[in-house]
Amino acid sequence: MPATILVVEDEPAIQALIATNLRRHGHDVVTALDTEAATRQINAALPDLILLDWMLPGMSGIDFARRLRADPRTRTVPIIMLTARGEERDKVTGLETGADDYITKPFSPRELLARIQAVLRRGKPQATEDMVEAGGLKLDPASHRVTADSKPVNLGPTEFRLLHFLMTHPERVHSRDQLLDQVWGDHVFVEERTVDVHIRRLRAALEASGLDRFVQTVRGSGYRFSLENS
Ligand code: CA
Repeated sequence: MPATILVVEDEPAIQALIATNLRRHGHDVVTALDTEAATRQINAALPDLILLDWMLPGMSGIDFARRLRADPRTRTVPIIMLTARGEERDKVTGLETGADDYITKPFSPRELLARIQAVLRRGKPQATEDMVEAGGLKLDPASHRVTADSKPVNLGPTEFRLLHFLMTHPERVHSRDQLLDQVWGDHVFVEERTVDVHIRRLRAALEASGLDRFVQTVRGSGYRFSLENS
């Protein structure tokens, strides 16, 4: 699955290493040393995926990810954060900012490629393009749009897939592991608590409409989409 990947990394040696490795695996790579250069690249052509360093001179990777998520044009472009810090708290912050995954430096080329493939696969259209509708919530896989009581809901690519899966498999409890299989696909490097982060983001996006109540936690088991009260 060759893709155009934008690498935003201010350390030239690391940037070159990543770029060489990705090109060897058939990807087109564009690079930027800071968020200004990255913005120019994105304005010129929208990449399929962005590898975004956490610590950058000027605007940080976190703030940049937030900006990309707020812009309709870049809202659904998958982002993988690169971080030199190992603390769990930072990883969760990275995901809550709108990143789809994070990877801690130093990482192996194999791990990076696996994460990229997993995120790209997630971004692919679902097997069914049929409109899904339940209790005022409408999801259109073809146009990638979600509305709650006719008002648009902004979802990142992972939340979109998660909601699509839950809506097409309602009234059943799905464990975190099952959700990773169904929504994330290749999840060898993804921790189960990542599911909780994305569920939280999905609920936050639905909160204004009150329809977040359909996304229910089943204690000790996992999650369920249900129109009934839990
Ligand atoms: Ca850096």
